[in-house]
Amino acid sequence: MKAARAKTPRRPALKKPPAPGPKDPVGVYCRVRPLSRQDQECCIEVISETTVQIHPPDGYRVFRNGEYRETQYSFKEVFGTLVVQKDVFDVVAKPLVEDLIRGKNGLLFTYGVTGSGKTHTMTGSPGDGGLLPRCLDMIFNSIGPFQAKRFVFKLDDKNGVDVQCEVDALLERQKRDAMPVPKTPSGNRRQIDPEFADMINVQDHCKVDEVDEDNVYSVFVSYIEIYNNYIYDLLEEAPFEQIKPKPPQSKILREDQNHNMYVTGCTEVEVKSTEEAFEVFWRGQKKRRIANTQLNRESSRSHSVFIIKLAQAPLDADGDNVLQEKEQITLSQLSLVDLAGSERTNRTKAEGNRLREAGNINQSLMTLRTCIEVLRENQMYGTNKMVPYRDSKLTHLFKNYFDGEGKVRMIVCVNPKAEDYEESLQVMRFAEMTQEVEVARPVDRPLCGLTPGRRFRNQAFKEELARKLEMRGGPINGETEEQSASEIFLQSFPPLPSCELLDPNDDQTLPKLIEVLEKRHKLRQMLSDEFAKNVLAFKTTLQEFDSSVISKENYIQGKLSEKEKTIAGQKMELERLEKKIKTLEYKIEILEKTATIYEEDKRNLQQELESKSQKLQRQASDKRRLEARLQGMVAETTMKWEKECERRVAAKQLEMQNKLWVKDEKLKQLKAIVTEPKNEKPERPSRERDREKPIQRSVSPSPVPPSSNLITQVPSSQRLVSNPQVHRRSNSCSSISVASCVMEWEQKTPSHKHTGGTSNARSRQQEPEQSRDYNTSDRRRGMCWTGVIEVPRRRDELEIEEDQCCRNAPPVRLRHRRSRSAGERWVDHKPPSNLPTDTVMQPHVPHAITVAAASEKALAKCDKYMLTHQELASDGEIETKLIKGDVFKTRGGGQAVQFTEIETLKQESPTGRKRRSSPSNPDPAEDAADSEWTDVETRCSVAVEMRAGSALGPGYQHHAQPKRRKP
Ligand code: ADP
Ligand code: MG
Repeated sequence: MKAARAKTPRRPALKKPPAPGPKDPVGVYCRVRPLSRQDQECCIEVISETTVQIHPPDGYRVFRNGEYRETQYSFKEVFGTLVVQKDVFDVVAKPLVEDLIRGKNGLLFTYGVTGSGKTHTMTGSPGDGGLLPRCLDMIFNSIGPFQAKRFVFKLDDKNGVDVQCEVDALLERQKRDAMPVPKTPSGNRRQIDPEFADMINVQDHCKVDEVDEDNVYSVFVSYIEIYNNYIYDLLEEAPFEQIKPKPPQSKILREDQNHNMYVTGCTEVEVKSTEEAFEVFWRGQKKRRIANTQLNRESSRSHSVFIIKLAQAPLDADGDNVLQEKEQITLSQLSLVDLAGSERTNRTKAEGNRLREAGNINQSLMTLRTCIEVLRENQMYGTNKMVPYRDSKLTHLFKNYFDGEGKVRMIVCVNPKAEDYEESLQVMRFAEMTQEVEVARPVDRPLCGLTPGRRFRNQAFKEELARKLEMRGGPINGETEEQSASEIFLQSFPPLPSCELLDPNDDQTLPKLIEVLEKRHKLRQMLSDEFAKNVLAFKTTLQEFDSSVISKENYIQGKLSEKEKTIAGQKMELERLEKKIKTLEYKIEILEKTATIYEEDKRNLQQELESKSQKLQRQASDKRRLEARLQGMVAETTMKWEKECERRVAAKQLEMQNKLWVKDEKLKQLKAIVTEPKNEKPERPSRERDREKPIQRSVSPSPVPPSSNLITQVPSSQRLVSNPQVHRRSNSCSSISVASCVMEWEQKTPSHKHTGGTSNARSRQQEPEQSRDYNTSDRRRGMCWTGVIEVPRRRDELEIEEDQCCRNAPPVRLRHRRSRSAGERWVDHKPPSNLPTDTVMQPHVPHAITVAAASEKALAKCDKYMLTHQELASDGEIETKLIKGDVFKTRGGGQAVQFTEIETLKQESPTGRKRRSSPSNPDPAEDAADSEWTDVETRCSVAVEMRAGSALGPGYQHHAQPKRRKP
């Protein structure tokens, strides 16, 4: 069995191009340690999770003018004085350990002045382990069960790693054990050094979550110190010479194939547990202390670098052994650096040799600063300045972390005491600048391509095999113990004697060796026989196992197909539901749009409604105003005309009385004339006089002027004509001579002279009287419309009555009529279906009995009947008709009504009138009237003074149509 030493051919050392891909800034954290004494002045405060504020101590002048200035610095995170080691570890170091296990490199260093807590943070203090022991603990917690046997991985001297088979590894272990002095501790069952026991007693059991279980792992640690720009291996085992101790040999740096720097010939110890690793560290620490005392050095002046290397390789396809391919091995490393104090030389009070050291230390930190600055500049401004890594060992060692890839983190430790103010400022500035440098993010290593889960399948198989063998009573070779079967097998062989031939005459060594080897050979033969037997048994077991696996697989397949079907069904259902959702969403969208349209409409309609109601209100108020004004005017006019009427009636009465007196006088004179000279025909004149008297009387004034009843609707000119007719008719049976005598006498009478001597003049004089008469009655009628409805009677009607009276015809109907002096009583029949009209002129009958239905009782008491009837006119307006009639008693004892006239009350709107008038046949008179109606005042006055039945009807038209009575 040979170790697979697959060496890759050395490539020409090319300048590595800058790593492409994502970059991360250097993670800078700040840790503020607590003051050692409470009374110390503090000049650093943590003001937020990421910011610290630093202010000069009392009495410190920043500027000459004494200005007091506070400065703030921000970092990825700031740890205050109360933050414990575990929290710092979780935030800063844990991700680095995770990366290490995933095969990526990391660098973590602490920076700060002496006494600021760098060592406390990195290593820890007694009872309070720092980042280093915690990192080790986490690593072993994570890879513990997957660790390779010691010596399976072998680091070569070129920063590479080899893998060898387990047997070779075992032989190597045996060889090492055979050595007189064990050089490395086996670790496991050793007594832990009480000096550091409590520092590694970490109880967190912190672990990486995803560890590749099909890999095997090995941890190697090395510990170096850079002092005075020299590298010393702190784990190197040098024979200790009591008399003249040799100064330690410094090491040199080299670059490996992957451009990583490494310390040549540096001791790298494979460790299998936290304790073992920490013991190695502690050994190096002790050595460092001894060197410091022996060589009179100051520990704070040196940089210590603890390097943890993790080698990992996949298991073979069986999951049993490590894959023997060098290309599959991954070697990652985590460097934990505790830098020297960053303070300036003058602060150390060093002298001579020490001063030189201090200067050098500062020099390496200065170089670090310069490197970071140049890197930052190159990255920020795209320049290509050479970074002076090689100027110091420290920067040279970590060159590839900045140039290549990896995760770099720095903890800046500060002591808030006043004395450290200036140094702390320097530290903060450097730290803040460092944050601006970016480092390429390490890429994930490629997968090996073997089936995952190999390790556990193999383990399960082994367990099963052991069980089966136990059942058959075969050899039980349970690998519960830590040593493997092959190890025990090799140990069972007789040990080899010493093979060294020191003497040519030595005849014992070789025979002994031959003897031992023969024994071994026999044993081997035996074992191989047994092995063949076991193989056979194993094969049968394997076959059984195979068949059971196949049946299980079949079962699983069936289940899987079922599940797949269900999944497909559910997928379809899902698609259907998604479609439904889409359609519903579309519908919702449409509905929303419709709703907005409707809302818009509603708003518009509401606005319209508001404007209309406002208009309506305006119109109503206009109407009210108009009504009030009209009423006022009507009342005023009524009053005026009543007074006028009274005045005129009085005048007329006076005039009539005068006339009557004159006529009486004349008659007296006539009588005297007649009686005195002639007495032949005494009867005739008396008859004539008798007949004339009533006529005279009929025109004589009465308390209620009867003239108003006699006035017809005929114009005044016609009336002038008709008057003589009346006269003539009434005198139809009288002789003309009397009249002529009267006229003669009148002409002679001096009192009548002032009125004119001719008949023409008389008629002229009569005319204005007549017309005044007419006007008076007419106007009175117009006024009466507001109150009493007067029933006009036609003149011819009256004449007929008179004629009948003359002819002595029996006036049947008139006999039943009540006398006028007693006042007419009306039956006002208003059917309940009638609508109230808001007209200014309302029919009102005084002393009327208002009935809703025709009743005989009411009729019996009254002599006039009026029915108020409403109907819809052609123009859509309500037309009120007042149908009037006289009540007569029938011979049978009942009541009869003879309708005499219809009065029509109709309300018209002026605009309606205009619309109605046909343009093809315009009536000029109507048009002229129309234009007048626009003026409200004109309309009112006309309404009041308008003659009944006039063609130029006002807004409230009055049509009195006297019904012709049947002869
Ligand atoms: P440095 O290594 O920077 O010179 P140290 O780590 O040796 O400083 O710290 C000096 C002292 O301060 C030690 O005694 C240490 O215990 C104490 N110390 C430092 N940091 C803390 C801290 N965060 N909490 C408590 N004590 C601390
Ligand atoms: Mg220290």
